[in-house]
Amino acid sequence: MKKDFSIKIRRMTAMVLVLTMLIQLTACGGADSSSGLADEPGYGKWVDSDLKGSVNADDVIRLQDDFAASANKETITSARVKDQLIWTTGADATDLLQTRFRELLRDESLTGPNAEVMRTFESLVLDWDERDRLGVEPIRKYIDDIQSISSIEEMTEYQSSLERNPFNLGLIMPSTVNAQEIHVDQSTLVLKVPAYTLGSRDSYLDFSDSSLELKEVMDDTISYLLGRLGYDEKSIKNTLRGCYEIEQFLATNECMSLYNRNEILNKVQTDRAALESYTCGYPLFEILDGRGFSEAESFNVDYMLLSRLNRIYDQDHLEELKAFLTVQMLKYGYSMLDRETIEKTREIGASKTEKHDGEIVERTDDQEFSAMIADCSFKPAMDQLYLEKYFPDDTSTDKIRDFIDRLKESYRIMIYEEDWLSEETKAAAVEKLDHMVIQVVRPSNTADYSMVTVKSYDEGGTILDAAASASRLLCAHMAERASDPNIDREFWDIYDKGFSTTTVNCFYNRERNSIFIMAGFVAIGETIYGEDITDEEFMGCVGSVAGHEISHGFDSNGSHNDLYGRRYDDSGQETDWMSTEDRSRLDERVGRVGSYFSLARPIPGQQQVEGIRVMNEATADMAGIKAVLYMARDIEGFDYDSFFRGYAALYATQTEEKFEVEAIEDDEHPLDFHRVNITLQQFDEFLDTYDIKPGDGMYLDPDKRINVW
Ligand SMILES: [Zn+2]
Repeated sequence: MKKDFSIKIRRMTAMVLVLTMLIQLTACGGADSSSGLADEPGYGKWVDSDLKGSVNADDVIRLQDDFAASANKETITSARVKDQLIWTTGADATDLLQTRFRELLRDESLTGPNAEVMRTFESLVLDWDERDRLGVEPIRKYIDDIQSISSIEEMTEYQSSLERNPFNLGLIMPSTVNAQEIHVDQSTLVLKVPAYTLGSRDSYLDFSDSSLELKEVMDDTISYLLGRLGYDEKSIKNTLRGCYEIEQFLATNECMSLYNRNEILNKVQTDRAALESYTCGYPLFEILDGRGFSEAESFNVDYMLLSRLNRIYDQDHLEELKAFLTVQMLKYGYSMLDRETIEKTREIGASKTEKHDGEIVERTDDQEFSAMIADCSFKPAMDQLYLEKYFPDDTSTDKIRDFIDRLKESYRIMIYEEDWLSEETKAAAVEKLDHMVIQVVRPSNTADYSMVTVKSYDEGGTILDAAASASRLLCAHMAERASDPNIDREFWDIYDKGFSTTTVNCFYNRERNSIFIMAGFVAIGETIYGEDITDEEFMGCVGSVAGHEISHGFDSNGSHNDLYGRRYDDSGQETDWMSTEDRSRLDERVGRVGSYFSLARPIPGQQQVEGIRVMNEATADMAGIKAVLYMARDIEGFDYDSFFRGYAALYATQTEEKFEVEAIEDDEHPLDFHRVNITLQQFDEFLDTYDIKPGDGMYLDPDKRINVW
């Protein structure tokens, strides 16, 4: 219910904003206001080419009127695209990687423990007959072990044992090793509560329609799984009740988002001695030390929640705690079981969520294997093999690195040229740019799965046992990192699951002032152009995104973190390096981006774009293109047409109206055809390349341009 209400408010705010803007625009004596389309991006000449069926193969669309629709026409009208519910260039790249994962296991030149482990694991995952024969049995011993816990002391022992509890189940458990808040060259172990069954903490504080929907799905899924394990109705009910009771407690007592600066720096970020005083009887250190973290000296934890755990951690709550762990185990392991489980749980999910109209999308073997690699902690091994096969030497990574160095040079010039920024802010921005760490494709260390045991079905192995072994390796690795008091901001850990290089993405990490260009994102270029991609095409579809990411270091969010990614300096003061005046000028400029986007109504009669939501990402898109165009000035014979088409190809998309409406309501990124058309129409180079003139759909008067940088 809350959701509906907030949407209404959101829509009203958006409407008021749009009305105000329209009034302002007409009051300024803008373009012909007799037509409602006069100020709309594209003047009514753009079709929403992201929508299925909006463009047909025999449509005649001029590049000058609608670049996205025209440049991508062939791609978005192809049969291959039409077969899919939602199609994007990124989805094609994901498919390519998934196919490659299995292909490279056939390559006999890849030897060693990683390759061996992955080959056996693949046979476990894709042998459906064996999976069906085993049914739900592989998870039974893990559930039985939890159910056998007979005292609160044994509950502690269970949580602390890597052997019994390989999947890190517990109330507050090690999650990752990060840099400390102020001393970013020193490490800290981040402790977290596990993922909530109902998605997020908010679901327990105020039930919304979507959280109730999710609760139904989860209740039915858990009930089905327990039923198959032989639980009767009463025990199923008790398990669910017990689990929600513990989760409700955690959700209502979590305080992480409420701490002030002083608390974050002195209490959330804490050492062993101080942390001891927050445990209030909860055996945190027994659990951590048992799991190998006895040498960790620095911690980052919700100390208030920790200090309250003793209220539920006792013999009286043992059954609830067991129920909580049981549900965690089921959620983790059910996708590793037989076909019946997979089909049934998908069916439950599909029948309760209207968004997919009850449609169940089957996974191919490639997709299944790829999903299991991630779910079962084998991603680092797979990433390692992928790099060995597709990036055997530094030729291509050096080229990308060189490109990004030149891109940084463009940014230096862009920053100095901005007359709305003060000299001090420019200097700080450039200093931050100089310290930005560029991570390209290859993590700093190599994955080694020689300690991981993967037994075949003949040897009595199961997917879950393989996952347990891999998970123990990752826990041990985290413990090793946590025991090192130092941390290097430039170290990219291949075992860090948030930074897998086979992800089809690039991103800027604010806390490290680093950008990551993943091997998976480089595959985008190959997806579109094959191996013979030209420099301009590469710069269009990959380089422009690298440029986008760099700009996040200087936007409204990024400017709160300093050159090392810190939010607080040595004296505990906020490291905001942008002066108040510069920040308000930045906000004003970004606000204009929002206003322009708010004029767009891609689907007639439907949800209008909310400029406020997308303005930051739209700003980054324009900055990325500008940086590459600055680079291009120094490249003789630069093929602008290829570059702009490469950029458009990156955002070729086909989707259905309901998904687009959802994206308009939730996504911080503009719609893909807007990312192409609105971004490109800001630049002279683009208008000149295609001889775009007033009256053309892509034309934007220089006075009305909105690019911030
Ligand atoms: Zn972004």
